[in-house]
Amino acid sequence: MTLLLTEETHTRQTDRRRPTRLWHPRRVLVTPEALDHAHGRQIVARAEALGLPIERLKNNRLTGLRDENPRRAYAQAKATLAVVTAPPTKLKLQPIPPSADWRFDLAEGCPAHCQYCYLAGSLSGPPVTRVYANLDAILGNLESYLGQGGVTSASEARAAEGTTFEASCYTDPLGIEHLTGSLSAAIRHFGAWEAPVQLRFTTKFAAVEPLLDLPHRGRTRIRFSVNAAAAAHYEGGTAPLADRLSAMGALARAGYPVGLTIAPILPVQDWPDAYDVLLRAAAATLAEVKEPDLTVELITHRFTPGSKTVLESWYPGSDLPMREAERTRKLTKFGSVKYVFPNELMKAIRAHLTERVAVRLPFARILYWT
Ligand code: SF4
Repeated sequence: MTLLLTEETHTRQTDRRRPTRLWHPRRVLVTPEALDHAHGRQIVARAEALGLPIERLKNNRLTGLRDENPRRAYAQAKATLAVVTAPPTKLKLQPIPPSADWRFDLAEGCPAHCQYCYLAGSLSGPPVTRVYANLDAILGNLESYLGQGGVTSASEARAAEGTTFEASCYTDPLGIEHLTGSLSAAIRHFGAWEAPVQLRFTTKFAAVEPLLDLPHRGRTRIRFSVNAAAAAHYEGGTAPLADRLSAMGALARAGYPVGLTIAPILPVQDWPDAYDVLLRAAAATLAEVKEPDLTVELITHRFTPGSKTVLESWYPGSDLPMREAERTRKLTKFGSVKYVFPNELMKAIRAHLTERVAVRLPFARILYWT
């Protein structure tokens, strides 16, 4: 697949000493409202410093993003960053089981091109990456949810994590951090928050150097979304798996709690060995970390009629297996349809991965299987 990313290679003096690719959007749109916020102006300054073309809009609506040709609309949207303000509805948080008590958003959309992107089922319209300028309001709003959680806080096994806030439901916040700085601000916010709280996000990127020295105080758990090597061709525009694992090692050495989000699990060829190889690689990256605080989340592939339609329009040539006849149809608790793997296959994968995690990563806690 042709990547739509403008890539720049940076070599940094870190313990990783590996090149990192960062996204450079082709268009940066800024609304007038976004410029009312210091954080919005800082994002624009970052974009200007990178030499990116800035379009200052006359009103606060993003228009002109649709195109008769769906491929062109997709390509243009994926190359566009919009600096906007989060609408008031974003400040009314929703629970996000099984990951966290609450979901909050620093941005919406992602510049990568994963053929199984979970955003396909939740976002509508052209997939522009919208980043929020009213960061102070977004972070200031979290306080009123302290101690109110009904997901992890209500779980005997996870209540010790405090009130948990998930920041990667609608975006990959690390993939755009070089343009926003929002994630660093959130990590600082949680580090300074004198309360039992946890910021959580998961990522398929690896540029963690700006995070290593932040005063996180162990209150941010950074998980890496990883998959068997055979699935790498589904993950266009993300950081290579080895870089993600290396980044996890660097963060663990910097004292962060870390995690593996193994997702979406697929019965790729020789899947038992393929996932064991992945777990061995993860173990190797943590070999020098004393008592790593590692969690594992196991998420099998599923799709809905809606997400399948969107993904087929975004990636018409994909070989991602999404045949309903090979799946079990289930109803979600909201009454909508989803397609998961048949029960026997689910049981086999679950038993194997649970056993392999115990062998390869005996210090890890499996948070959930779904
Ligand atoms: S990195 Fe995550 S959010 Fe971004 S395209 Fe891939 S699956 Fe979607």
